[in-house]
Amino acid sequence: MSAEKEQKSLGNKLKEELFYTPDHLGEVLSDDQINSALSFSDGYKTFLDRCKTEREAVEYSIELATKKGFEEFKAGKKYTQGQKVYYNNRGKALILAVIGNEGLENGVNISAAHIDSPRLDLKPRPFYEQNDFAMLKTHYYGGIKKYQWTAIPLALHGVILKKDGDKIKVNIGEADTDPVFCISDLLPHLAGDQMKRTLNEGIKGEELNVIIGSLPFKDDSASEKVKLNILKLLNEKYGVTEKDFVTAELELVPAFKAKDLGFDTSMVGAYGQDDRVCAYTALMAALECENPQKTLLTVLTDKEEIGSEGNTGLKSAYLKYFIADISRPYGISEKTVLANSRCLSADVSAAFDPTFSDAFEKNNAAFLNYGVCLNKYTGSRGKGGTSDASAEYVNSVIRLFDKNNVIWQMNELGKVDQGGGGTVAAYIANLGVDVIDVGVPVLSMHSPFEITAKLDIYMTYKAFCVFANDK
Ligand code: MN
Ligand code: MN
Repeated sequence: MSAEKEQKSLGNKLKEELFYTPDHLGEVLSDDQINSALSFSDGYKTFLDRCKTEREAVEYSIELATKKGFEEFKAGKKYTQGQKVYYNNRGKALILAVIGNEGLENGVNISAAHIDSPRLDLKPRPFYEQNDFAMLKTHYYGGIKKYQWTAIPLALHGVILKKDGDKIKVNIGEADTDPVFCISDLLPHLAGDQMKRTLNEGIKGEELNVIIGSLPFKDDSASEKVKLNILKLLNEKYGVTEKDFVTAELELVPAFKAKDLGFDTSMVGAYGQDDRVCAYTALMAALECENPQKTLLTVLTDKEEIGSEGNTGLKSAYLKYFIADISRPYGISEKTVLANSRCLSADVSAAFDPTFSDAFEKNNAAFLNYGVCLNKYTGSRGKGGTSDASAEYVNSVIRLFDKNNVIWQMNELGKVDQGGGGTVAAYIANLGVDVIDVGVPVLSMHSPFEITAKLDIYMTYKAFCVFANDK
């Protein structure tokens, strides 16, 4: 090849200089980097299998944090640099703090992910019998496509409180020897009428009924003998009666385990990756954070999927009051701390789906394997219901990432007016904090089996580490 041909044309040189083209991680990372990025997901898969509910995520996170020297937070106590504490909000939300070298008046760094995921909750009076089946009524939690939840194995997780207030933890369907539960769907041979329904109505809310038993209690006079037989089994196992389920919190979740996905094992397929992928990466960054300059708060919150309502969701005051509690011994008001704080709202982005490309606008879509996603805003229609991060703050985050080789992509959720969604960013921004959404791109979001790429997971972890240690 002649020397002239090796040289790039002027146009190509200019393009390189002037155009912005995001990088595929598989192209730009070294083999060593790729291998350590892939193995980072081993701990993540364990986290997913152990934490299928918000309660389990809090419990397991505390277990990991305690091993790293975190202690339970006590309001009124003055914590000094390097100390590590956690605040457990009702067993459903958690704040981890690593106290920084700098005074709190300069603000804190906050990473906030959510640990609740779409699922099927049991109704307060779930048991009934129909045509010799014992069944459970459910009420779905969060945004789901209902048809995806039929004909898959389901596990039951949660708590039952007994008459004396004793709490029983329930986890059935995860061990190999456990039974699972299932919502039936009509066979295609007889689904003529059902197939004419819209996809939205294909399975209706009141058709999300779970089969839990089929054998009767042997008695020739009682009615509802199959339901009776199940309640007898539950009474023998847990000492509970039907009335105890009125106060129980029981969640049906997919019973399958997190798996490597693809011949190249480059992806993770699992339930609940929205948003436990950001919870895990932010948590790992917090557990490895030693003596940060600024105090690091890692919030693992509940109720994001239903609008952050309730006292364990971020529309409530628990984050603000925690900040007030850590700063009061220093005579600093939470207002001062919050005004100088910044936050990565750690939540997943919708990844471009090759089969449903029409829903996305390619220039601004998130792609698997292109690194940690940044969303300046989410919301719907004309940016309704979102916090729109300022140019200055977005710029500072991008500079931080670039300086530390964190490979990122800037995205929107999908096409304008195609739909939309929100995160906790808006509620933290309402406290006067600078916030931007940062997270992992996900395919089949809110389905029983969501897909992420391991290189993105690793890059997101790196982003939280860099943020945790930033001055
Ligand atoms: Mn989410
Ligand atoms: Mn979600």
